[in-house]
Amino acid sequence: MHGFHYLGRKLFCERVPVETLVRKFGTPLYVYSQATLADHFQKLNRAMSPLDHLICYAVKANSNLAVLRTLANLGSGFDIVSAGELRRVIAAGGDPGKCVFAGVGKTEAEIEFALRKGVYSFNVESEPELERINRIAGRLRRKAPVAVRVNPNVAARTHAKITTGTYENKFGIAYEQVEGVYERASRLKHLHLRGVQMHIGSQITTVEPFEQAVSKMLPLVQRLHRRHGLEFLSIGGGIGIVYEPALASGRPGWWKTSAAKNILTPRKYADRLVPLLKDVGLRILMEPGRFIAGNAGILVTRVEYVKRTGKKNFLIVDAAMNDLIRPAFYDAYHEIVPLTARNGATIRTDVVGPICESGDFFCKDRPLPPLREGDHLALLSAGAYGFVMASNYNTRPLAAEVLVNGRQAALVRKRQPVEQTWAGETVPPWLKTRRL
Ligand SMILES: *Cc1c(COP(=O)(O)O)cnc(C)c1O
Repeated sequence: MHGFHYLGRKLFCERVPVETLVRKFGTPLYVYSQATLADHFQKLNRAMSPLDHLICYAVKANSNLAVLRTLANLGSGFDIVSAGELRRVIAAGGDPGKCVFAGVGKTEAEIEFALRKGVYSFNVESEPELERINRIAGRLRRKAPVAVRVNPNVAARTHAKITTGTYENKFGIAYEQVEGVYERASRLKHLHLRGVQMHIGSQITTVEPFEQAVSKMLPLVQRLHRRHGLEFLSIGGGIGIVYEPALASGRPGWWKTSAAKNILTPRKYADRLVPLLKDVGLRILMEPGRFIAGNAGILVTRVEYVKRTGKKNFLIVDAAMNDLIRPAFYDAYHEIVPLTARNGATIRTDVVGPICESGDFFCKDRPLPPLREGDHLALLSAGAYGFVMASNYNTRPLAAEVLVNGRQAALVRKRQPVEQTWAGETVPPWLKTRRL
């Protein structure tokens, strides 16, 4: 579902005209649809309902407290990758007992904090990490629940920067070594071998890589389960979404586009995976991030300048790569639409930010309606890996975030005051001896 649509010529989020949010909160502005977040969670939850399962939303995709609370209210667990994310989940009212802690570099302080809070499992990425968790658990006189992240060596056929399940990258323990690792881990007194985990990559748009990885994992999982009495199997996240024209300048029928027709839906995912998983005898965990948050958010920006050179038509906007880095970082495509739809001719346009980097662009040579200074644009499908990757580069304050629920809208993160970008910095005393 898409919480964003045109009514007349105006772009709405649910039942709120996005323009009214711009007037109230300014730009750049992230706008999230609560109904879309909930709908995506529930669609996947329903599709997987034949299995004993738990969705652990991947917090790193969008960690705003209001987003986390929306999902916690629906019963979601959380996939976290730092103590900071665990603290966010707790601050949002989430249950640490439904959290799985992933990541290759957990520090001692993070492990101790997560143990004290009672996370459901540490998803472990190396033997030294197992030993470290065992040592800390011993010191705290506890048993640490762990699962080893298996690298199934399956190509996810997605962008190189988001492929994680092959031996080329730093994640997990090689398939062939996993049983030996569980054997040694079973002799570590302060560990509880609770499960096994995999995650092969992100923005995967066909079911085959998941099916391949699960099929490859199952015999191993069953051997591990028989030997060590496990409780869960996590099949990771990575379900892809449609980024291609969704609103297509307001023309109805976007859901008939080939990208939308071919996309991996929860139904297709479940139809192929539930039969494989239903006799494993383990609770199935999933860790979707992008699937839940991606299409639930947009980034709204104002046209500051229209600049025509001999060859090019540039729209220079007030959002930049520091607000949304995906185009620069992943060569990502984001559909860009005006807040007020226009019929008629389009012109090939580069939408660019004000930052002094040639990577600071949102699209190149994209047919867009002719726009003027002061008009507004929405970058669609910016709900995942958008705000969370924002930085203060160029001393640009972090954008504001708004959550919409039907006719209601709330500022869920105020625009960062610019002074905060240097709060915490100091000039050392020896520099102050010279009076200005
Ligand atoms: C990033 C990540 C996810 C979420 O990936 P999406 O593509 O957003 O679904 C899930 N599990 C792990 C271990 C991850 O690192």
